[in-house]
Amino acid sequence: MYYVSTRNKNNKLQAADAIARGLASDGGLLTPEVIPNLAKKAFVTMKDMSYQQRAVYVMNSFLDDFTAAELTSYAVAAYGGEKFDHKQVAPVHKVDDTTYCLELWHGPTCAFKDMALQMLPHLLAAALQKTAEEKTVCILVATSGDTGKAALEGFRDVDKTRILVFYPKDGVSDIQKLQMVTQEGGNVGVCSVCGNFDDAQTGVKALFSDVSLNDELAGRGFFFSSANSINWGRVLPQIVYYVSAYCDLLRDGVVEEGASINVCVPTGNFGNILAAYYAKRMGVPIRRLICASNSNNVLTDFLKTGVYDRNRTFYNTMSPSMDILISSNLERLLAEFSEGGDEEIRGYMNALGKEGKYEVSSAVKRKLDQHFYAGFCDDAQTQKVIAKLWKEHHYLIDPHTAVAFDVLEQYRAKTGDTTPTVVISTASPFKFCDNVLSALGVTELRPGTEILDQLSELTGVAVPAPLALLKDQKVRFSQTVEKEHMVDKVLEMLK
Ligand SMILES: *Cc1c(COP(=O)(O)O)cnc(C)c1O
Repeated sequence: MYYVSTRNKNNKLQAADAIARGLASDGGLLTPEVIPNLAKKAFVTMKDMSYQQRAVYVMNSFLDDFTAAELTSYAVAAYGGEKFDHKQVAPVHKVDDTTYCLELWHGPTCAFKDMALQMLPHLLAAALQKTAEEKTVCILVATSGDTGKAALEGFRDVDKTRILVFYPKDGVSDIQKLQMVTQEGGNVGVCSVCGNFDDAQTGVKALFSDVSLNDELAGRGFFFSSANSINWGRVLPQIVYYVSAYCDLLRDGVVEEGASINVCVPTGNFGNILAAYYAKRMGVPIRRLICASNSNNVLTDFLKTGVYDRNRTFYNTMSPSMDILISSNLERLLAEFSEGGDEEIRGYMNALGKEGKYEVSSAVKRKLDQHFYAGFCDDAQTQKVIAKLWKEHHYLIDPHTAVAFDVLEQYRAKTGDTTPTVVISTASPFKFCDNVLSALGVTELRPGTEILDQLSELTGVAVPAPLALLKDQKVRFSQTVEKEHMVDKVLEMLK
């Protein structure tokens, strides 16, 4: 199977090349030419498998140039042992008779990014070997929250890789910062940038395209790559947990074989919900893909009207991982739905670049309507939902997950649809103690890591071990650079 650029269908690569490069040379996203179908008996076969075995089963059909034995060793390394604090890796929690919650935050950094970033380093390291790449890859990351830590933890001490994370000095939560600056590993670097997330992101993009820097580093035996969700190696491991959730529901008798479910996904860059769409295409009977946004509701408007317009106010919300106005992975969905081929996609992306806006064809709009529903939820409502879930179900959720619960309720009120629905839970509530505590009515918050115990004492829910450990870890990285000096940090690290 080949991977083709969304912007030029003649630009074709094998899976290993697609993962090693991350992005097509024309700026498009590398996407499988065909989506494989699950075999008829697939769910019966997978029902009693472990998460690791299900991952191999699903990923194998996309990666011709990797063997099942290779994938098995990656799955064991990524999801086995002590890495996840739940032996089912991605368990499904029952909330009520038609509402289930897929918990994706049992990994080492307590956010769903671990599901893919524990796997990507294995895929990438193998891809470098398969493509006979001799240089060491340097993963550059600009992060506003969860991606930086998950990427550091995934790539730490992986052979022939370095990773350097830039975060905005005053733009991440205390817990998120502490998670990054205490990172262990011999191949990692972390540095804060004076400015906001956009400054860090713009700085990283400039490093990628700095020709003399790239030449200098090539001479030293390095090249840059990216760990964000434009890389197919990040989307693929996310398809697995949708298949896995359906297998769990079948196994537990919640649905009969072939019966439909809905999924409701708190969405930012559109990677997670795109993986749900691919799972549907493979054969998971998903009726409706419900796309939940916060006040940055560019996707809500797009899915309702067919007009994508990023020219709007940017809000900093209490679900910061969804504070985004350009959802990169939407391009892959447009490529699936368009009838005018790659020329049509180039048209949309050019318009987005130039005017910050495009309108899709009526054919694309029809398909969006067929699969998707969209809604959004503001901060005040997010806190109400956290309180409600706690009060009515004794279930503690983070602000991102709360956004999804609210949008599901809107959907049900509007449509009367009673299909069993899986809400995707993307972060541990302990990553966002302050907003969760205030949602529960607490007004005096304890300082630093004491806030973890405060939430635990109030709710009786244990602090996840990786966060509890933060108290005793020593700070390894305390450097701050001006955005013009990020290049010096790169040169210092890649000696
Ligand atoms: C990244 C993230 C999201 C958004 O996921 P996308 O794949 O970018 O749509 C939602 N919630 C949390 C907690 C995240 O870290």
